Amino acid sequence: MPQTEGALGLVDHRSLVLVINCGSSSLKFSLFSGDDSSSLLSGLAENLGQADSRLTLKENGGKTTVALDGGHEVALRTLMTILDEKNLLHSIGAVGHRIVHGGERFTASIRIDDAVLADLESVSRLAPLHNPANLLGVRVARQVLGWVPHVAVFDTAFHATMRPGAYRYAIPTEYYRDHGVRRYGFHGTSARYVAAQAVEFLGLDPDDHGLVIAHLGNGASATAVRNGQSVDTSMGLTPLEGLVMGTRSGDIDPGAIFHIARSAGLSIDDLDAMLNRRSGLLGLSGLSNDCRTLETAASEGHEGAQLALDVFVHRLARIMAGLVTSLHRLDAVVFTGGIGENSVLLRQKTVERLGLLGLTLDEQANARMFGGVSGHIGSADRKPSSLVIATNEEWMIACDTRSLSSMSIS
Ligand code: AMP
Repeated sequence: MPQTEGALGLVDHRSLVLVINCGSSSLKFSLFSGDDSSSLLSGLAENLGQADSRLTLKENGGKTTVALDGGHEVALRTLMTILDEKNLLHSIGAVGHRIVHGGERFTASIRIDDAVLADLESVSRLAPLHNPANLLGVRVARQVLGWVPHVAVFDTAFHATMRPGAYRYAIPTEYYRDHGVRRYGFHGTSARYVAAQAVEFLGLDPDDHGLVIAHLGNGASATAVRNGQSVDTSMGLTPLEGLVMGTRSGDIDPGAIFHIARSAGLSIDDLDAMLNRRSGLLGLSGLSNDCRTLETAASEGHEGAQLALDVFVHRLARIMAGLVTSLHRLDAVVFTGGIGENSVLLRQKTVERLGLLGLTLDEQANARMFGGVSGHIGSADRKPSSLVIATNEEWMIACDTRSLSSMSIS
């Protein structure tokens, strides 16, 4: 295989996978080589289309930032120029895209062509806050990197194995039939990665295990995994259902929404914004959506912060315990995501609440798990296990992209 001498060393021709996660005003990317799950290079273009738009590149532990003058296309073209200068551009063999919603049409990752893109557009009505931005990234990347295969990897796909009993809402059937209203679930790429890691770490039988994965970040969800398949999850038609999140409410009585609309005079769009952007930890605390800020404030006596963390843990424990009822056995609960990987306090409180399921907490081990460290936080020789596993959704996207692009690992 021909090689080029890039800024990051010798790189095989067309052996790199670029992973793109495009939001409405941001674009995250990671570049992977061979079978190394840590990215060669990663970065974030943010505030796209605004005056302070910029691109930050992370490489070898260092950061560089360049100002951008434009939107998503300018960001991607700037990235391509930088990769070209580093002699890496022509080593890219495929591009993987994170797509939030695949609907019922997309139940696995897929190589993108014009027909797939048209179907993706039609699914976008199910996720108006996320999919249009994801698809903008696909369109721009296909223009800028038109000579390589592009692959779509869906947050919803891992949950396609849920049965109707788990995914249907108890509302008249026509809303499912005519409008696709059902539970889809999200964070599937993370759950798939973390579940596989847990099976390997614990030496479980791939065809006979039961796990509950709690992906706790600014968005948060929990998933029951039985024998490698998602059987239930806390998010629904949209990522608003389920756990308390940074700014999203999670579960709320639909009757409360009608009541708020009538008594406070909120429109549908006002309600959408309130439940998605002003609720959750932020709404409860009146202070912040950031768990670190809330933990500090709570320790200093801030009542709103204390309440927000209390509700967060209450709902989390309740939902995780409920998910166990979809399993035949519980081998482990696994914490991941920014909060799951780093918050010693919230893990401790949650595992304590789940003691009824037989979970144990080793306070010293729990205190050691942060900053990407994975391992047991409960007694290693007691079942079920309590674990922290650092997620790596980008790497999962790169793996799917590589296999669907017929690339071999160099
Ligand atoms: P994510 O969306 O996965 O990046 O996670 C973001 C969330 O992780 C935010 O609420 C952060 O406050 C939280 N987080 C990150 N580091 C810590 C930490 N050391 N302790 C508590 N929460 C943290």
